[in-house]
Amino acid sequence: MIRDPDTLNAFLDSVRRFVRERLVPAEHIVSDTDEIPADIVAGMKAMGLFGLTVPESYGGLGLTMEEEVRVMFEMGRTSPAFRSLFGTTVGIGSQGILIDGTAAQKDKYLPLLASGELIASFALTEAEAGSDAASLRTTARRATDDRGDHYIVNGTKRFITNAPHAGLFTLMARTDPSNKGAGGVSAFIVERGTPGLTIGKPDKKMGQRGAHTADVIFENCRVPAANLIGGKEGLGFKTAMKVLEKGRIHIAALCVGVAERMLQDALAYAMERKQFGQPIAEFQLVQAMLADSKMEVYAARCMVIDAARRRDDGEHVATEASCCKLFASEMCGRVADRAVQIFGGAGYVADHGIERFYRDVRLFRIYEGTSQIQQLVIARQMIRAAAD
Ligand SMILES: Cc1cc2nc3c(=O)[nH]c(=O)nc-3n(C[C@H](O)[C@H](O)[C@H](O)COP(=O)(O)OP(=O)(O)OC[C@H]3O[C@@H](n4cnc5c(N)ncnc54)[C@H](O)[C@@H]3O)c2cc1C
Repeated sequence: MIRDPDTLNAFLDSVRRFVRERLVPAEHIVSDTDEIPADIVAGMKAMGLFGLTVPESYGGLGLTMEEEVRVMFEMGRTSPAFRSLFGTTVGIGSQGILIDGTAAQKDKYLPLLASGELIASFALTEAEAGSDAASLRTTARRATDDRGDHYIVNGTKRFITNAPHAGLFTLMARTDPSNKGAGGVSAFIVERGTPGLTIGKPDKKMGQRGAHTADVIFENCRVPAANLIGGKEGLGFKTAMKVLEKGRIHIAALCVGVAERMLQDALAYAMERKQFGQPIAEFQLVQAMLADSKMEVYAARCMVIDAARRRDDGEHVATEASCCKLFASEMCGRVADRAVQIFGGAGYVADHGIERFYRDVRLFRIYEGTSQIQQLVIARQMIRAAAD
């Protein structure tokens, strides 16, 4: 749903300009230093990027899903690390509060998230609970003493994006030890600085330098009972799945944007690079790689817009969200591979940035549910629907 095309187009123009003029020229700096320059972070805050999905009444832009994916198409046209800084807040970090939080939780946290004052992380994965996230072992035991009603949290979360920068964690922990499945899990808001919460060393990764992940360790961490999302135990896994459903459409849109950027660079190179006395773009075998990439990017773009519109219309889109994430992330991997091929030897060495994108986009097939998990989600929904 596009609410006001003129306002949206003006915003998309400013995002496009920001990407072209500020982010693309800084790609190599981020890659070399593993940091996003402070002036760029300030620019992101000023543009309202941290508050894309937070309702206007809490200081955000309140974008619909269709508006959000159109912003992500633009943001994808540069190193994914830039999106990662505000994207976990927009995509998965704040959504638990937004979708299932109490009025008091929304009032307290959403304005801080929308302004970028607080960065939010989403803490679900553990060493023994990755794809099988419902088996998580982090515990939250309710206790009351003279300091009030609270939960004591123990456990370690792994690979948490933006953990080193986060001011707030949406944490999934087991409140009912007798229930080893999804129903025993609750979601919490945990503020940085809560005693008993520590962050591990940033992980060394294959790509996406400038975006940081780390362990988040809870040792007798005392979380106020008021921070139980929605105020009810046992709903945390459902909250996480609702968050991920939306997050998968968001990531699929990002994949489309990055694939478009890689294809644009590959096309420009193919038109300029000459072999056998002519631009390599004239060779039909190179044209096939360009055409296949164009076709797949277009298909993914159409899928993402369709799923976003359906979600805005209130449809249940678990299947469509997984279809988008699966197709768009795999498509992005294929386009990255063809782009490196079109660049030839220059694609393998670091000069043109295409090998950096090749490494960066590998993550899209792994996080927020691997490709295999998306296949399972899609097939299970099909079987369930057919059995009804
Ligand atoms: C850079 C990065 C950032 C991340 N950010 C976050 C974050 O912010 N928050 C968070 O909570 N998590 C985050 N993650 C974790 C991520 O979501 C998990 O890595 C992912 O869900 C896969 O879990 P796993 O790594 O334990 O792999 P595993 O679950 O061990 O899977 C290994 C392989 O087995 C396959 N497999 C597993 N089960 C099945 C099955 N039933 N059928 C078929 N194949 C199967 C998988 O598809 C995969 O190929 C991040 C990970 C990375 C690398």
